[in-house]
Parts: sequence; C-alpha cells; structure tokens
Amino acid sequence: LHKSLLGYRSLNCASSRRHISTLVISEHEGGSLKGSSLNALAAASLLGEKNSVSLLVAGSSSESLESVAKQAFSSCPFISQVLVAESDKLKHPLAEAWAELILLAQQQGKYTHVMAASTSFGKNVLPRAAALLNVSPISDVVKVMDERTFVRPIYAGNALSTVKYKGNEPCLVTVRPTSFPVDTSDSVNCASSPACPVTTLDVTDLNSEIIDKSTWLGQVSQQSERPDLGSAKVVISGGRALKSKENFKMLELLADKMGGAVGATRAAVDAGYVPNDMQVGQTGKIVAPQLYVAIGVSGAIQHLAGMKDSKVIVAINKDPDAPIFQVADYGLAGDLFEIIPELLEKLPEK
Ligand code: FAD
Repeated sequence: LHKSLLGYRSLNCASSRRHISTLVISEHEGGSLKGSSLNALAAASLLGEKNSVSLLVAGSSSESLESVAKQAFSSCPFISQVLVAESDKLKHPLAEAWAELILLAQQQGKYTHVMAASTSFGKNVLPRAAALLNVSPISDVVKVMDERTFVRPIYAGNALSTVKYKGNEPCLVTVRPTSFPVDTSDSVNCASSPACPVTTLDVTDLNSEIIDKSTWLGQVSQQSERPDLGSAKVVISGGRALKSKENFKMLELLADKMGGAVGATRAAVDAGYVPNDMQVGQTGKIVAPQLYVAIGVSGAIQHLAGMKDSKVIVAINKDPDAPIFQVADYGLAGDLFEIIPELLEKLPEK
C-alpha cells in the first residue's frame, strides 16, 4: 500500500545554480512563531550548503514581530536575516495581501527559493504568489533531494513522486511540517543569542487595489487546554462508531489522561460529532505523533494519508478485518464501548 511506487515527473526547463538564497514565509500567533514555520526553516536548511536562509515575518504589531524574529533566530541560528514587514494590511492571514508581500520581497531579494509550511495558510498563499511570479509551485514536499529535486506524495499518499523543477526562479515550495523535524541541538538561548540581523521591508507600495478586494470578517477558534492536533505527541482519534458528540467526550478524557490531542475521521466530522478542524486525513490535518490511537476508525486510505507516518499506531475496532489493523503496531479487536471505559479506569491520572 505505502510508498511503493516511485513516480518521476519533470516540469519545464532551466539550469541549476550553486548559490541558493531562500525566503521562508513565517506564521505566528500571539507573538509566537508557529512550530510549522520552524519545520519549513528546517526544510530550507537542506537545500544546500551555500544557502542563505531569510525569514519573512509580517504583521501589524512591531512588538510581536520583534519577539517572533528573536525566537526564530534562537531556534535556527543559521538564519542569515529576518525580513520584517509591518502594516495594518498584514494584520490578518489573507492570501491577497501576503501574495503581494511575497512578490515585493522577491523583487527586492531575488531569492532562488520561496518556502512555506504546507498549512492552511501556506496552501492558501503560495499558489497565489506563484501566479503573481508566473512560476509553477511544488506542493506538500516530504523530502528535499537537492535544490531542484523534491519528493511529494500523490494518490492520497499511496505513491511518492520525485519532481525535478526546471522552471524559472524562484522555485516555490510548500513542505509538509511532519516530514522536517527541527534539530534543536544548535538552538541558542533567546536572552543570550547574538543580535538577530533584521531588515525592515518597506511595504508602502503594496497593491491596495488587490488587497482591498477581500476583507477579514472574523475568526472562530476552539480554545483548548490540550496540545495542538498538528504537533501533539499523542493523538486519540475517533470514527463514526462513536455514534454521538457525547460519546466523543470519552476520547477527550482519554486524551487528557495521556496528555494528547483529539482527532477524528471525516465520517465523524460529517455526522456532526466534532468540528472539522479535528479531521485527520487527506482533506484534514496531517499528523505524525509518537502515538496515534485510532478508535472505531475503519482505516480508509483517505484517513491513512493523514496519520500513517505516526511512530506507533494502536487500533481499537470490533471488526478484526478492518483495514486499520494493516497499519497498526498494536491492535485490539473489540467493542470500544467496553474497552474505553476500562482503559479510562486503568490509566493513571496524568
Ligand atoms: P466507517 O468507515 O463507518 O468505519 C467505522 C469503523 O468502526 C468500522 O471499521 C467498524 O468496524 C468500527 N466499529 C463500529 N462500531 C464499533 C464499536 N462499537 N467498537 C469498535 N469499533 C467499531 N476520511 C478521513 O478520515 N479523513 C479525510 O481527510 C478524508 N478525506 C476524504 C476525501 C475524499 C475525496 C473522499 C472521497 C473521502 C474522504 N474521507 C476522509 C472519507 C473516507 O473515505 C472514509 O469514509 C472515512 O474515513 C470513514 O470514517 P470512519 O472510519 O469513521 O467510518
């Protein structure tokens, strides 16, 4: 089933060059750099030895931008400069404004590569920036072979395609965060880190006519004490078999005892048991935790596409022939309504 087929696809033509300069697009919230941006930086560092990596940090609050720049530099001291763009137009993650910003940064920096994490934000912004730059983007990369050769999953993760980029510069790439772990051995303490080289980008020329075509209406986010699903070390996922929103609370209790996040299949989301930001899979979140517990989940390929790279997979399903057992390291064939209460009783408090 997995990673078996190696496809090879070629895009249009051009030569490769030695010196590489990469612009990584950062995401941040409340003055903190998101983990997925660190993963994008880790991917950028693999593009070659002669590679200068710049990070683009944009928003409307100078304090947040400064704090994000410091965090980035202390986690990834190989960053050669942080480009800071401050404007009310960049307060929200709207593709129109950010794509214009990337165009502006590219015109000034002439980067060979522009990279972003393959998150909702990255997947929204990069294709638009690629259209403005008249290049073809490469999405959801899981491996950097060299500065122009990348591996990406196709057919819901059932095959890996090696793509050689032969287009014009810059080469625009989104990377799958779970495939590029961050090496923390080089990180330096924020307080003692040397001054981060920061360059301010003049954004007065951002094209307002295009930016004003979309308006930010608001954001509804789930407040939770649990870790973020995308970066949690333990994920407890439930499927349609849970039968109701109330029954999903059992998984929440289990997740709390194990210090994990709760995920779900699309069938559970479609049935209204949980909100759709909890969906794991091809059209949901891609996760690769240390431990993934799939409860009442059949193991459809679209679900596997989002979790099969988890380090240890445990499946609980009453059907011993359920496909999820084919990818599970440990399987429990039985009724979840008997197994979960027993697990809850036997597991110690966190
Ligand atoms: P089911 O397939 O109904 O499986 C329920 C399982 O629970 C069964 O294996 C059954 O044996 C078991 N069960 C039932 N009762 C009990 C019990 N009491 N105790 C223990 N086990 C029990 N799906 C995703 O998850 N993520 C995606 O991103 C995604 N994207 C998709 C994209 C496309 C284009 C398409 C076409 C489909 C997509 N799907 C996705 C849907 C996917 O194909 C499956 O339909 C879905 O994953 C099934 O969810 P499920 O396993 O919860 O439900």
